[in-house]
Amino acid sequence: MSQRPYIVGNWKMNGSRAMLAEARAIDRAAQRYPDVEIALAPPYPFIGALRDAVSAIGVGGQDCHTAAKGAHTGDVSAAMLADIGADFVILGHSERRRDHGEGDALVRAKAEAALAAGLGVIVCVGETLEERDAGKAEAVVARQVEGSVPAGEGAAVAAGRLALAYEPVWAIGTGRVAAVEDVIAMHAAVREKLAAIYGEDADKIRILYGGSVNGENAAGLLGAEGVGGALVGGASLTADAFLPIVAAASQPEG
Ligand code: PEP
Repeated sequence: MSQRPYIVGNWKMNGSRAMLAEARAIDRAAQRYPDVEIALAPPYPFIGALRDAVSAIGVGGQDCHTAAKGAHTGDVSAAMLADIGADFVILGHSERRRDHGEGDALVRAKAEAALAAGLGVIVCVGETLEERDAGKAEAVVARQVEGSVPAGEGAAVAAGRLALAYEPVWAIGTGRVAAVEDVIAMHAAVREKLAAIYGEDADKIRILYGGSVNGENAAGLLGAEGVGGALVGGASLTADAFLPIVAAASQPEG
């Protein structure tokens, strides 16, 4: 991996003030892995407190609105995330696509708003089991990439503030992990699509794998060609589960 591997924990709708102790433990251990970029994305109510609790890891949101402010009850803007100390935001997660009907164009608009607000962005893509079984996985993911990544904000992309997460929907929270050769093939296809869109700037975009990553399977997945890190759900909720994934990503020199 030419860039620092990026290991991101997505707490989804899990968390509490008591769980900040897990974040603190992850943060303390992070200092042992300076060659790995580590981050956590808790639910909105805990972002500020988590930000204050950690110093070595990044903190992010799990969604944002396209607008900077206004009459959008219940929503949170990218500018607000930045203001509270978030470094990045996850966008287009399959659970948001499923639960909130988010489509590619909306994800793109959110990504552009988040980059404009100074945040890093992780755009999620991934096929369903039906799509994979029908042999359409690469076509579906290529279409999602094309439709969801920002069309503007080229300087932010060139600066490495955009990441992609390939997360096959059938592998999320199921314990079923994609075969390493399928991950390599999909990451290569995504890389090719990004190069067609961004040219040389695409080299700055890390492509993460997500879907039931844990301490046992992390080394195989993170060592696969083209995998620039992992987006981790269930195994990010405790330091004991998350840190072995970080350790698997670490390749200190010497
Ligand atoms: C995710 O939420 O992005 C995810 C990959 O979840 P899990 O690791 O639990 O499959």
